[in-house]
Amino acid sequence: MIQKITILGSTGSIGISTLDVIARHPARFQVVALTAHKRVAELASQCLQFNPQVAVVGSAAAAQELRDLLQAHGSATRVTYGQDALCAVARDCDVVMAAIVGAAGLAPAMAAAQAGRKILLANKEALVMSGQLFMDAVSANNATLLPIDSEHNAIFQCLPHDFNRRPEQQGIAKIVLTASGGPFLNRSLDSLRDVTPEQAIAHPNWVMGKKISIDSATMMNKGLEVIEAHWLFAVAAEKIEVVIHPQSVIHSMVSYLDGSMLAQLGNPDMRTPIAHALAYPQRIDSGVAQLDISKIAQLNFEQPDLMRFPCLALAFDALRSGGTAAAVLNAANEIAVEAFLERKIGFLMISDVIKHAMNTISTIPAADLDSVLAQDALSRAAAHHYINGH
Ligand code: NAD
Ligand code: MG
Repeated sequence: MIQKITILGSTGSIGISTLDVIARHPARFQVVALTAHKRVAELASQCLQFNPQVAVVGSAAAAQELRDLLQAHGSATRVTYGQDALCAVARDCDVVMAAIVGAAGLAPAMAAAQAGRKILLANKEALVMSGQLFMDAVSANNATLLPIDSEHNAIFQCLPHDFNRRPEQQGIAKIVLTASGGPFLNRSLDSLRDVTPEQAIAHPNWVMGKKISIDSATMMNKGLEVIEAHWLFAVAAEKIEVVIHPQSVIHSMVSYLDGSMLAQLGNPDMRTPIAHALAYPQRIDSGVAQLDISKIAQLNFEQPDLMRFPCLALAFDALRSGGTAAAVLNAANEIAVEAFLERKIGFLMISDVIKHAMNTISTIPAADLDSVLAQDALSRAAAHHYINGH
């Protein structure tokens, strides 16, 4: 049966890769909604190619611009805007690709969970902010959650088929997240003081959106992924290990009590995890070249240096603190990354901003979404205050 799919954040790096895979399988998937924030021209050409019923943008002005572009081509796609519209298209489908970046993706991802949809989750920030609430919404409404993040997709592939979110019952000793180490892996702490956004975005192995590229350079991306893994697979912080693996060939591993370690390997191309989740439990062509194992001369591994990458330690702290601590971490990080991209702060100040917010904003139980969003707002204000004071 053909699956009706909504792609939240279709103009982004993950959105584009998703459409690339879908275009290879027209008999399997029908795109019913596409969404973008500001890139109206890109969204217009996606609409003309995939003919969704609805397109959602961020503002009334962007919606009018998109309508004008689509009308000129006789398109039947209906154009709406705003968060309620994002939530509506997240409900009104069979499958949702949640690929909006940052906290903006939480409400529509949660709407999809509450509507019991199949959710392909790229938007890790949503889960970092509201882990317990999100997982509860998934199970209470019989939604299906499949990880798109390459590490988590790899872990999912290495887990038993009947994995029931009780790792200790299934002989899982630990989960090992691999990290490329980003563009600054071998640089001294002092030499990072003056790096530019352009240098930080130039990732050695992956081509991604700006925010996640900076997160990779600070290793906050791995920190967010540790928290993401905790919620997805119900593993305690002590059982999650991060190892640097500069080649990005092994996407992550699961260690079992009997001494076995299972890994998933592949070329670093997000179309592999996307195709895996789209077709699960079947396998389909993703357009990614097969891994040529004989051409990979070596696979290297090393421990991460928490002195040079303090963001990773901050994320472990937030996970251990529980409650709204991870939402505070995430919000301050979003503000700090934005300020770094706008050249308002230096690279090394990103972790200072986050530390300041975490020390200033008290952790409260993440009892409901309002509590989470309140601490998120306080954290953003604290981060802005710190940045403006420097
Ligand atoms: P991107 O910046 O390339 O794209 C982001 C998308 O979200 C765009 O379509 C944009 O229009 C939309 N968007 C941005 N702000 C919005 C807002 N306020 N409201 C509504 N829509 C908004 O980002 P990306 O690299 O594709 O990453 C998307 C998500 O996937 C992130 O959470 C990221 O951490 C995760 N992820 C990405 C990759 C990757 O390889 N790019 C890998 C793993 C996980
Ligand atoms: Mg990842």
